[in-house]
Formats: sequence, C-alpha cells, structure tokens
Amino acid sequence: MKASNYFIPTLKETPSEAEVPSHIYLVRGGFIRQLAAGLYEYLPLGFRVLKKIENIIRKHMDETGALEVLLPILTPSELWQETGRWEVYGKELFKVEDRKGRLFALGPTHEETITDLIRKNIRSYKDLPKNFYQIQTKFRDEARPRYGLIRGREFLMKDAYSFDVSEEMAIKSYEIMKKAYKKIFDELGLDYLMVEADTGAIGGKFSHEFVVKAANGEAHIVYCEKCEYAANVEAAKYEFELDKLPPEKEKPLEKVHTPKVSSVDDVAKFLGVDTKKIVKTLVYILSDGTAIAVLIRGDRELNETKLINHFNILDARLATSKELEKMGIVEGFVGPIGLDIPVYADVSVKDLHNFVVGANEKDYHYINVNIPRDFKPIEFVDFSTAKENDPCPNCKSPLKETTGLEVGHIFLLGTKYSEAMKAYFVDKDGKEKPIIMGCYGIGVSRLMAAAVEQNHDENGIIWPENIAPFKLHILALNMKDEKIREVAERIYNLAKEKGIEVLYDDRDMSAGAKFKDADLIGIPHRIVVGRGVKNKIVEYQHRKDQQKQSISIENIENFFEELV
Ligand SMILES: [Zn+2]
Repeated sequence: MKASNYFIPTLKETPSEAEVPSHIYLVRGGFIRQLAAGLYEYLPLGFRVLKKIENIIRKHMDETGALEVLLPILTPSELWQETGRWEVYGKELFKVEDRKGRLFALGPTHEETITDLIRKNIRSYKDLPKNFYQIQTKFRDEARPRYGLIRGREFLMKDAYSFDVSEEMAIKSYEIMKKAYKKIFDELGLDYLMVEADTGAIGGKFSHEFVVKAANGEAHIVYCEKCEYAANVEAAKYEFELDKLPPEKEKPLEKVHTPKVSSVDDVAKFLGVDTKKIVKTLVYILSDGTAIAVLIRGDRELNETKLINHFNILDARLATSKELEKMGIVEGFVGPIGLDIPVYADVSVKDLHNFVVGANEKDYHYINVNIPRDFKPIEFVDFSTAKENDPCPNCKSPLKETTGLEVGHIFLLGTKYSEAMKAYFVDKDGKEKPIIMGCYGIGVSRLMAAAVEQNHDENGIIWPENIAPFKLHILALNMKDEKIREVAERIYNLAKEKGIEVLYDDRDMSAGAKFKDADLIGIPHRIVVGRGVKNKIVEYQHRKDQQKQSISIENIENFFEELV
C-alpha cells in the first residue's frame, strides 16, 4: 500500500480527552477517531488491526468446532424480562422503543437471545453438545465512557455459548475453550495472565479472566511465576499459615501510655516492636446497619470485597468519626478488649502472641495481648488483601503483583439461563432436563487498546507482529531524488511479490516527519531508503530497538525471505 493513496491522519498534539497511552496513540496515529463520548470510528489502519485480532480469534474458535452465527443487535425486552435482567442490568442497558411502543435493548451480551434460539431448535440429547459464537458490536450505556477503546459505549466482542447434556460434559466444553483462549492470546503476542475469578453460586474453578498485563489496568492481580496460579487481589487466598510469627510464651497483659501515638507505624516505632505485632481494629458499618469490629495484623490490608462476600451483604464502609463518637468508641485507640460490638478477626491474627491493640481509652494501648486469654473473636476469616511476596497457595513461592486489563472471561453458567427460560432437552432416559450452559467472551476492540497499553514507548506504538496493521514499513526519505525513488519503488514491489504486507511511505514530506509518523504508527519492521542508495545500501530497523542495520540492495530478496 502506498501511503500517498492511503489515509493516515496523524496528529502532533494529544487530544484533550485522551488520558492513557492507548487512547493517545490510537488517535494520534490515525487508527481511530471519536464520534461522540464512547463511540469510535475505525480508520483504515485501525480497521486492519481490528480484523487481524478478529481473524486470530475466529481461527481458534473454528478449530474447536464452535459454530459462527450472527444474532440481532436489537433484542426484545420480553427475553430480558424472563431472566429478570431487564431490571438487574439497570441503566447500563441501552433501551430503545419502536414505533409501536415495543421495547428493545441494544445487546450488551446475548445469553437470553441464544437461549431462546436453542429452546426453539434443540430437543434431544442427540443435538448436543453445541457451541455457538459470534463477533459483533455490543452496547453498554456507560455512565462515564473513558480511556478510548478501553471503556466505550459501543464495542466489538466475541461471545460464545456452549450447551451440554451434563455438568461433566459442560466442564469438558469449558476446558476446550480455556485451551483455545490460551492459543488466541499466545498468537496475539500479548503478555497475559489467566486469572481464577469469583464464581459465586457455581463454585470450583469454573470462571477465569484473561488479563493483559499493563500499567494502566484496573485489575490488580497476584500471580506466581513458578506455577500457573493467578488471582485478583480480592479473590486470592491468603496463606497465613506460611506467614506466621514463631510461637511465644504469653506475657502478662499491660496497659501502656502512648500519648498521641495511634497509627500502626507510629505505635510500632514508639513501642519498638514489629508492625506484625500491632493489631488494627477497624470499625465497619455493614449495609444492613450493623457495626462490627474487624481485627487485622498491622502489615496487612483489609479487603472490603472479602468482607462483603463473607457477610453476604451489598456494601460495607468504615465508620465515620461521628459514628464512632456516638458508639462511645475512641478513634485512633480502638481495641477488642471491652468493646461493645461484635469482634471478628482476620486469619493473620490467629496464633499471634503478645500483640498490641488500642485500649479504648485516649492515649493508651494494651501490650502483650493474647487470644483467648484477653478476648475472643467470633471467628477468624480471611479478610486480607493479597500482596507481593505472599506465599503462592499452590506452590508456596513468593507471589508477584501486577495490574492489567481484563480482555476475556470464561464462565460455566450451569442452568441459570436454561431454567429461567425453559431450555430443556430430552435425555437418553426419556426425561426432560435443563441444558447446561457456558459463556465465553473476548473484548475485540478492547484488545486493540490493551495491546497498545502493553506495547508502546514515548514515541508511539510498537505493534506485536501478528496484529500490526502492516508488517513492513518502507520509508523513502527524499522523493525528489530519482535514485531513492527508483530503489524504494523496486523494494516495495519486491516485498509485495513476496506476499509481505507493506506500507510504502512515498509521500512528499520531510524525513523527520516520516520517521515521526513511522514511530507513532508502530509497524514492526522498517526499511529506510536514503542517501545510502549511492553505495547500494538501505537501512533496516525494528521498531522495538531502533538499532540500524545496513543491508545491501542486492541482498534484499534474501532478507525478505527471512522476514516471511
Ligand atoms: Zn505457585
């Protein structure tokens, strides 16, 4: 492709609404443009990347025997009513009304639609298993669309749904998808983690998120380099048994004067003890209105998601100063001894000896506190947020911590939708049974952003080989020089003959502007045709390291063969 015939509207300035590298470089590089908040146009370069991602996904989905379909974007409200999700989805569901007053939703996902298709067309165990997938535009009425393609209101997704006769078979389908997902993300060339996700009612390990490691990611993950373990910090189990202090002989309880000293670090310093021996007492107000105290070791952070899940409530928050005062609790010196509200403890406090707590009295702490001698919590629960260097729950190696962007999610649904929507089949024994379902999503347009978040430098994008818009970028540095033009043209034609996807910058522009654009666009391989042509030499660079390598023009054919 000749750049002079193409459309690459690069920008020097960063658009004001762009906050993250993927948004900045995809707009500046001429890949996308914003139409309205959360709505993007894919320009020719961006469309090529999108199609490449799509085709890698399609190839591996097809390999598993999954069947591609295309369902309507407009989905009747009646289907959503059947599963109760018309209400549950809330304002994020894009609702539209037709001229007769019938309500529809622009599909954010298609469990209801596909289940309706299945219940009308599948009768017998002989028709199963099946896995249907589609690559389609989805909608979500985000309250705050931002970060470009990362959180849009309209986005491209691959969604797949499996249908099986038994849980055992459904697990098989799930495992097939898990393997296919690994192949997809490997071929995309991204550094990713397969993260065990919260499964709620189903239990077991039947929900995984695929997270692309990136500095700007909203997911906080701990993972193990020795084994495959990876989990959200909210979901990761804390192996407190491996992080315990050695046992000690109990010393007598003592109340000590700690004037104006209340933070963990300050108390540890003042008393000359390890922060692991300071126990924080946090007062939480649960969404049902009850106040509880939760104890946690000074070096650990409490995880509110774990707290909420344990008490099966909607929300929990720390009590305000006013609320503490009302309860007669002394802020900064709270402790479990003599406290009037229920006391729970994180597992980090278990088997801890001679530790320090607030004395429920201004400027006083208790030292040498021991359980159960001095007080007894209702129970010990894992409320700890996992962190770097915690022991891996699988293999005990120290965990690493990273942030990332969720780009895929697989889930064994069970019979949630088939029961709600009466999608039954007749089994071998002649009995009617609900079909067991699984669902499998990949954010296609989000992947394009995630790839850039992971692969860029201060000058622009560095595309992974398999999803780059072109493989080779030829820059002719001075189009007025006949020799340069002639050589560049020859190399361009040769690359095309060899089947290399090539962009040839034949525009009449300065060398500096061409290099700037090339860095911004991020095509992996680059051949620069400049003054060297006099000595029958061109220069090769890879976008990643920018190191120059001279190639004799005679050798270019061999070079292309290697590249292919
Ligand atoms: Zn491990």
